[in-house]
Amino acid sequence: MTDEQLYESLTQFHSSTRHSWSDATTEQWNDYRWQLKNRVSSLTALEERMALSAEERAGVLLAGNKLAMSITPHFFELIDRQNPDCPIRRQIIPRIEEAWTAPEELADPCGEDSHMPVPGLVHRYPDRVLFLVTDRCASYCRYCTRSRVVSGAGDQQLEIQWESAFRYLEKHTEVRDVLLSGGDPLLLSDDKLDRILTRLRTIPHIQFLRIGSRIPIFLPQRITPELCGILQKHHPLFISIHTNHPKELTTEVRAGLERMANAGIPLGNQSVLLRCINDSATVQRALVHKLLMCRVRPYYLYQCDLINGSSHLRTSVATGLDIINHLRGHTTGYGIPQFVVDGPGGGGKIPLNPDYIINRQPGRVILRNYQDQIFEYPDPHPIDDKTLQELHLLANSPTLTDHVEHQLSGTI
Ligand code: SF4
Repeated sequence: MTDEQLYESLTQFHSSTRHSWSDATTEQWNDYRWQLKNRVSSLTALEERMALSAEERAGVLLAGNKLAMSITPHFFELIDRQNPDCPIRRQIIPRIEEAWTAPEELADPCGEDSHMPVPGLVHRYPDRVLFLVTDRCASYCRYCTRSRVVSGAGDQQLEIQWESAFRYLEKHTEVRDVLLSGGDPLLLSDDKLDRILTRLRTIPHIQFLRIGSRIPIFLPQRITPELCGILQKHHPLFISIHTNHPKELTTEVRAGLERMANAGIPLGNQSVLLRCINDSATVQRALVHKLLMCRVRPYYLYQCDLINGSSHLRTSVATGLDIINHLRGHTTGYGIPQFVVDGPGGGGKIPLNPDYIINRQPGRVILRNYQDQIFEYPDPHPIDDKTLQELHLLANSPTLTDHVEHQLSGTI
């Protein structure tokens, strides 16, 4: 298949089938509670539906001690069961490689635990906080940055001290932006989510709320009109979804995203750059184009964090730079995410860009465009005193209006 044929096939929207749940009614399939109840969470349930490789089987057996396995029927149906390298499969089915920790890997790669003034609240940047409101997700990504606490399978538990967190936010008037994450905040009940957002809205200095969620991808049925009604009560509220591969953007996902966009929620996407999943310019181009068709602005492309047991999923930084180089200038600017890396241990987000500045010299920069053509951009020349004086005289001249009118009449 050529790159263009691959691009064409990836930009199509398909519906998730229900091949493995053929006895489910349409009503059941479209009910998010049914989807959650029927998640694939055990080796037996998985092997009833597909043949695993030895590496996957061992990975599933070990996952219970680290990051649980759980896959919604909707997302499971996107797996190509004949293809061991299926990009959906590699994101969601544990593999034995997770059991090996590379020397550079960390349990808490973003240093969140050391920036928690109150359990559950990460305050690293000056004017914004990350509020971890749950440790559960609809499905679990094998590269999860918070696998140390997410799913409840590992040794560390997420403790949330709700009242202390709200009091901290009330006291810290510099906080103007709160990002709810976890786990997945949209997995909370409508009531609970509404209570949290309402409480945050009583704090006058909080200008802006954000939610990070992969629910629109794993469980689009959860994006009900009722949920959208709750979210739109709390504007300005932005949602960052998380999708990595164009196959994840099904017709059901597109419909859920449209419901949120119609509720006035600005939508962005965060992707993680993952080896043999989305580390090609063609896949990324299809992904960002499909996101725009779903009214989602590609926001960040993350260099994968140094999570324990993730080396089989991580790529080099050069791979990401090469992808951005293939996108910038070659497609819509709205479709180009900012490639970033989280400084290991708590450095925060650091933007990564291809080298467009070839040289900086006093008074000028030498630049490269997307076609590798070279340009010189001069710094502004200060206006000399004599010219400035003449301009001031002209500005204050009583005959200026007559002078301009005369000039204009001459041009008509
Ligand atoms: S949805 Fe987010 S929090 Fe949950 S497992 Fe995936 S990356 Fe981690």
